[in-house]
Amino acid sequence: MDKQVILNAYETLRDTLETVDVNELKKMYSRKELEALQQEIYNVEIRSLAYEIGEAAKEMKLEEFPELLGVHRYPELKEASFLTEEQQVEMDRFLGDLRPNRHYIHGIHLKLKESHNPEKQAALETFLLEKGIAERRHHVECPHCGDSYLSGAINDEEKGKVEEFLRTKEEALESFFMDTVDSGCDECFYEADDPYRLEKLPFKTRLLLVKQADRTLQNL
Ligand SMILES: [Zn+2]
Repeated sequence: MDKQVILNAYETLRDTLETVDVNELKKMYSRKELEALQQEIYNVEIRSLAYEIGEAAKEMKLEEFPELLGVHRYPELKEASFLTEEQQVEMDRFLGDLRPNRHYIHGIHLKLKESHNPEKQAALETFLLEKGIAERRHHVECPHCGDSYLSGAINDEEKGKVEEFLRTKEEALESFFMDTVDSGCDECFYEADDPYRLEKLPFKTRLLLVKQADRTLQNL
């Protein structure tokens, strides 16, 4: 069928629907009749042609660029020899769905699709850090309840400065420490002692995706 015939049919349907005045229907029919009409309209199943055509185009694209089935968003993953090829592809898809500098990388172990394997997970985390795909971000946790953060997300260097202040009580770091770490917790009413008497604070550490995916193939 010529594509223009399809488009014309859609446009005719749209134009007909545009002329319907619902207020007029209210005058012409009873409530029961309108409820029945609503159901009858639902019962007319209209094919979702736009969806079906989209799926067909996707299939054609995969035939044209079979590379799309493999690792292509984060090509570095091909060097992760400790993963199976299937796991590399799975990670590539998983990371490609996240937004850099917004999304943390959670649930790597689930994406690896194998039973508990902390060594492999740790190797993958190290790999992502070394390749500059991810960076660590830390939050100071409330030492009392652990349910709340006493800081925003800070990077390795900032965490180092917080720890150095706790260790050395170096005066030059005091204002940085005070600006970075809240003195009280919103959840449990914990109030920190004098920062010069604090010795340790717990951190919650997560991996933040920072590298943009290569979208060359997807945008073709
Ligand atoms: Zn707390």
